[in-house]
Parts: sequence; C-alpha cells; structure tokens
Amino acid sequence: MKNHIFMRFRIVGFTFLVCMMFCSVHSKAQEPVTLQLKWTHAFQFAGYYAAVEQGYYDEVGLDVTIKEASPDTDPVRNVLEGEAQYGVGSSGLLLDRAAGKPVVVLAVIFQHSPYEIYAAPEIYHLRDLIGKRLMLEPQSEELIAFLKIKGIPLDSISIMTHGFDAGSLMQGKTDAMSGYVSSEPYYFRLANYPYQTFNPRSAGIDFYGDNLFTSEQELAENPERVKAFRAASLRGWKYAKEHTDEIINLIFTKYSKQHTLDYLQFESDQMIPLLQPDLIEIGYMNPNRWQHIAQTYASIGLLSEDYSFEGFIYDSTEKNMDWFYRSMGIAILIILSISALALYIFRINRRLSQSIKKIKQASAVLAENEKSYFGLFNSVSDAIYIQDKKGFFIDVNVGVKKMYGYSRGEFIGKTPEFLSATDKNDLPLIFKLVNKCYTTGKPQQFEFWGKRKNGEIFPKDVICNKGKYFGKDVIITTARDISKHKNAELEIIRAKEKAEESDRLKSAFLANMSHEIRTPMNGILGFADLLKEPNLTGEQQVEYINIIQKGGVRMLNIINDIVSISKIESGQMEVNIQESNINEQIEYIYTFFNPEIEAKGMQFSFKNSLHFKEAILKTDREKVFAILTNLVKNAVKYSEKGSIEMGYNKKANFLEFYVKDTGIGIPKDRQGPIFERFIQADIADKNAYQGAGLGLSISRAYVEMLDGKIWVESEEGIGSTFYFTLPYHSEMIKEKSAEKEILLPVEDASINKLKILIVESTPKSQFCHKGTKTQRIHKALLYWLSVLCVS
Ligand code: ADP
Repeated sequence: MKNHIFMRFRIVGFTFLVCMMFCSVHSKAQEPVTLQLKWTHAFQFAGYYAAVEQGYYDEVGLDVTIKEASPDTDPVRNVLEGEAQYGVGSSGLLLDRAAGKPVVVLAVIFQHSPYEIYAAPEIYHLRDLIGKRLMLEPQSEELIAFLKIKGIPLDSISIMTHGFDAGSLMQGKTDAMSGYVSSEPYYFRLANYPYQTFNPRSAGIDFYGDNLFTSEQELAENPERVKAFRAASLRGWKYAKEHTDEIINLIFTKYSKQHTLDYLQFESDQMIPLLQPDLIEIGYMNPNRWQHIAQTYASIGLLSEDYSFEGFIYDSTEKNMDWFYRSMGIAILIILSISALALYIFRINRRLSQSIKKIKQASAVLAENEKSYFGLFNSVSDAIYIQDKKGFFIDVNVGVKKMYGYSRGEFIGKTPEFLSATDKNDLPLIFKLVNKCYTTGKPQQFEFWGKRKNGEIFPKDVICNKGKYFGKDVIITTARDISKHKNAELEIIRAKEKAEESDRLKSAFLANMSHEIRTPMNGILGFADLLKEPNLTGEQQVEYINIIQKGGVRMLNIINDIVSISKIESGQMEVNIQESNINEQIEYIYTFFNPEIEAKGMQFSFKNSLHFKEAILKTDREKVFAILTNLVKNAVKYSEKGSIEMGYNKKANFLEFYVKDTGIGIPKDRQGPIFERFIQADIADKNAYQGAGLGLSISRAYVEMLDGKIWVESEEGIGSTFYFTLPYHSEMIKEKSAEKEILLPVEDASINKLKILIVESTPKSQFCHKGTKTQRIHKALLYWLSVLCVS
C-alpha cells in the first residue's frame, strides 16, 4: 500500500516536472510580438497570416499577434510607443521619419502603391476636379503630389474627410475620392458604377505600397528578432502569393468576415501584381526609389530637399550581402571560369600556332630532305630498288628505269621475278637471300640475269642491304649491269692475249724466220756459187738452177705467208665476197696438183657433192682457193705413198670440205696446236718437209673470216683428214646458177668451162678489166703458165 502511494506520488511528480520543463522552454522560445496592420484584415496583409499559419514565426521563436487597425489607428505611433513591435505603413513612413519619428522601414511588400483617385463619370480629366470635392485619406500624400504635378493646386479643390465608403462617390456625396486599387473598384464594379480612375504612375509618381517597419528601439534592442521577424514575414509573403486561395479562405475563416470571399478574391487579383513577384524579390528596397519618393515629397513641400535617409532604410546587408556575395561569387566564378577558359584557349591557340609553325618548319625540312633524297636516289647511275621484306618493289630509281626500259609505275608492287630472264636465275634462292638480308640485316650479294622490256637479257651484280625508307624497314637493293663491265673485261683480255700473241709471234718469227729464210737463201747462194764453176755440165747447170728456183719459190711462199699473217694480224686482210663455183675450184686444184702427186707415185681424186649449177658459194674465192691449196700442198708434203682425196659434202646449211691423205699423220697431242702459228707436229726430220708452220694458221684465219670452222682428224702413220666448213644457202644458189646457165650456152661446153675456170680462178690483180673476153682468157692463161713454170 505504501508502495502504491509512493508510486502515485512519483508519477504525479514526474508529470509536473515535465509540464514545468515544457512550459519554461516554450515560454522562453516564443517571444510575443505584435504586428500592427494599417487597416482591417484583408488580403493586403496576406503574407503575415501565411507566416503565422505556416509556423514561420514559430520556427524563429516568435509568437506574433496581428492587430488590425481602425480609422483612428496610427500604426506608427503604436509601434513607436511599444504597443506593437512591427507595423505596416505606406511610403508616408518617410515623412514620419523626417518628422523625427524613429521608424525604420524593414521591407517593401508592394513595389507599387495601390493608391488611385476614383472620380465620378463626368470627371474626364484630373483638372476637371478643380472646384470639385475630393475625399482624401491620411497617408495618401503621393496623390497630393500627383495633383500638383498635374497643375491642380490643392486649394482649388474642396478636400473632404474620407468616409472609407465607395458609396460616397456613387451616391454623389463627393466628386472624387482616394482609394485602393484593391478595394473601391470592387464596389464600383459590383454596382456597375461607371467611375473614372487616375493613377499617379501616369504622372511618373511611383511610390512604394505597403511596407513593413519597426522602431529604432526595437531594432537596437532586438536586432536578431527584427531580422527573424522580417525573414519569416517575407517567407509568408512568398507562400501567400503562391497559395492565394488558401490564404483567402484563411482570412475569411480565421481573421475576418467583414469582406466576402469574392471581395477577398478581387483584392488578391489586384494586389498580387503590385508585388511584382516575378521581377523583384519580395521585400527588396531600392534606395533610388526612396530617393524618388523623397523628391516627390519635397516637390510638394513636405520634405526638405536635403533630407538624409540615414537610419531609415533597414540594412539587410547580411542577407543582401549574402545575395550580393553569392552573386559576386558566382560572377567571379563565371569570370574566373571564362578567364581560365580564355587563358586555356589562348594557350592552346598559342601552342597550336607554335605547333603549326614547327610543323611547317619540319615540313619544309622534310620536303627539302625528301628533295635531296630523291635527288641522290636518282642521281646514282646504278639501279636502286626499295623492297619490302617479301621482295615487293616499293620504289625504284631512274637507274632501274634506264636498265630495264620500264616506267617506275610498272615496277611498283612487283617482285624480282618480273625482271628475271627465263630459266637463268634460281629464284627461290634469290628470295631466300632477300629474306635472309631482311631478317639478319646482313648484306647479300648474288648475280641476277635480268630481262629488259625489249627482251634483251643481261647479267647484273646485285647487293641487298637492310635499311629504312620513310621510317619503314626495307631492303635496299643496288644492281649493276655487268654486261658492259664484262665486255670491257673481255676486251682487256683479248687485247692482252693479242699483245701476248704479237709478242709470241714476234719471238717465234725471229726464231723461225731466221731459220726458214736462211735455209733456202743458203741453198740459192750456194748453188749460185757452184754455177760459176767453169767445168759444169749442162745437166749440172739445170740441176743447180732448179735448186735455186725451188729455194726462191720457197722463200716467196714464206714471204707470202708472212705478208698474209701480218695483214690478218693488223686487220688489213679484207674479205671480198662474191659468187664462186666451188666445183670449178676443186677441179682446178685437182688439175694443178695431179701431175705432182702422180709423179710421187700416188693417186689424187676429187669428189663434188653438188651439181655444177648448184655448187655456187657466196664467199671470198681467193681465200677458199688458198685454204684448199694449202691443205692439198700439206697432204702432198706429208705423204709418201697411197692416195690423196679432196672434196666436199653438203650439210644442212653449209658445205663440209675435206682433204684426206694417207701420209705420216699427226700425233694426237699435236693435233690442236697445229693451227697455231709456227707450230709444227713433232716430227723427227723437219727439214725433210720444209714447213714454216704458217699455212694452217692462215687457213684457220681465212675459214673463220668466212664464218666457217676448221679441224683435223688424224692418226699417226695412217694419215690425216683436214675438214673445213663454209656457209651455203641453196635457194640463192639455185637462182644464181640459173643465171649462170644462160651465160654458158655456146659451142663445146667443156672448152668453155675450162676457159671460165681459168678466168675466174685468176686473181683480179692479174686482169686488165677493160679488155675483151678473149684478151682476158689469154691473160689468165699466161698467168697460170708463169705460176706453173715457177713451181
Ligand atoms: P708447214 O706445213 O709449213 O710446217 P703448216 O701450218 O701448213 O706448216 O702445218 C703445220 C704442221 O702440221 C706441219 O709442220 C706438220 O707437222 C703438220 N701437218 C700439216 N698437214 C699435215 C698432213 N697432211 N699430214 C701430217 N702432218 C701435217
């Protein structure tokens, strides 16, 4: 039980404590303040009701009482005397302040004044008011200024006390009345009264409307409260302007039913535009506007010209400065951003222009380098190819174009295969070498047979090197045409051989000729001496003369050979090509040598493979004669028994001549060299055969001059066969032989044939060309008789 009582006591005590705490906190937080309105409750004060209702005052610790006014209420006095801390006043606050009342305007609510003059329908112009009645309410000084500016002296009008009833005008109790845009017109319209309106703004008088104000004392003692009250009030105004219907209902239900909802709606419609809410922040005060208001007052003598505003306009710097600083901050931020951006752009531009300058310089250098490079590239006479790692041509220089005859464009994208002479190069190997050069970086060298555009093939030396071409790894290949080089080399070799040959010839000549010439010379001189002997028989004399004559012929032969050799050697030996019947030559040589051969107890025979008419060669007749003569002479010389056969066989496009003997033969190892000058087969008794070793070399030179070949087949002790070839073209021969046939139709063909044979075999030098045919035949016969006699 005790416990129970104790428990109850405790609960009651705790509840009391909480209540006390709550009351004390609440009473401490909510400061009571009064706002004195300048008129009865209406939408004109909407923002303050909203602030109360939305708890804005509450939030800042204010318990606000909104006090409406009656016609007798002077809000300024109430505030200054402390009945209220805050009040709502007109622009007339400025006059109160000038009159020494320490009011401080905290915020402008309506940016324009709602005061207007409403007049009876017959008052068309303001000046029509002269001599008329005008109800003018207190604090409507701006309307007095308006009249003055319009040139209407106050004393020209009968100023009446305002009844605050629109009916006064409608009922003709006055001709005009001051009024609020939000009030009187409502009643006029309701009554369909055709009133006239005169707005001071039409004369440039633009006063502020309702203003929130306080006393200097309140501001000095409770600056924070002033600040808080002002801020909460403005917050309420912001709310009110956005929730007009809600506030209208609030006024009607909570504050006053003096006006109908319709009236309040009309009032709201008229008042909201005066807030200028979209353009200006609610509460904003422009000192210039106050200046304008002061000047207007001064113009009607209500204020001195030099009135000072000091202390009148509440310095909401903190907030304004906040705004200002915020704006400034944003502005500075924007300026800084723009500056930074401008600087950045400027720097980028500068860098860009520097880069462009550098690029231009670099491009110029590059262009110059490129020019120099191509200059060098193309000034080299050797061919230069730029190839990729697979061997494809990327570029070629002028040397390549000259070497092959293709244009540069024809090379690009091709490989060396394009330039290769068919079956002359090991292309897989070449590609392998090119690839090796690329992968190892080691230069590779090889010979390449190229094929020019005109089909000509030629060898060239190629060297591959790895290099760079405009930053790319490539193979730089240089090639040199070695044809000219090789020709030059061959020329040098030939010249050297010729020089060596000349040297050898000279030495051999001196060695051989001294012997070859001295031997017959000795014979001639010796037997010439013997001939002087007085006791010689006739036979002896003939014998000695024969020996001397043979020595002479031998010397003549040697001298002839030497002359021929020297002519061949010096290039003076001419080739005199003409048509020649080869059968005639063979037969003539047969006729010429047969007696000598028969005398030796040997047989001599000849074989002509072609018909007489076809046996025509276009050749140097004298040289062919000399070759055959020389071979038969040797056959006779180096044979003691058996037979000698001479003839020719027709082959594809040449005739193969042969002279076959059954003589001593030539050892195998000597068969090649015997065509060299002064070379004789190794035989025991040289003197027995009286050779100088020149005949075969002259024969070979002649055969080669006539585009033929000469060779020997021989067996020692059995005999030798000498062969040589001469070109033969049967078509041409047929035509020519047909012509020849026409020339030889007469008499005894064999005699005629012999005559022609004699004439044509005779060296030209022996003829007098102007003579008749018979004279020429005689001359030829004489020549051959002399030759026969000499041999
Ligand atoms: P030569 O007969 O005046 O010595 P050649 O140049 O005519 O000079 O012949 C060179 C050499 O070839 C001869 O010395 C001889 O040894 C050899 N020879 C040439 N013809 C014959 C032949 N028909 N039979 C054997 N040997 C020959």
